[in-house]
Amino acid sequence: MADNPSPKLREQVYARAGGRCECRLRSCGHLGHCSSALRDDWVLHRIKAGAPYVLSNVIGLCHACHNSRSAHGARRQ
Ligand SMILES: [Zn+2]
Ligand SMILES: [Zn+2]
Repeated sequence: MADNPSPKLREQVYARAGGRCECRLRSCGHLGHCSSALRDDWVLHRIKAGAPYVLSNVIGLCHACHNSRSAHGARRQ
């Protein structure tokens, strides 16, 4: 099973996010939305790890948030 995000999905998520990080985890240290600008190397993060790469299961994360999630283990939104 092909389990990789398509470039098109990245475009769609970026557009939905308005070019801003969609993270809402308070444990990152931001209140509410992170809203850092998504740079070229932003991370397409699956909300449910085992679920497919579809628009409803992914959020765009800045690198700081992605790293913070990794640091906190498998915490989900
Ligand atoms: Zn962020
Ligand atoms: Zn965050």
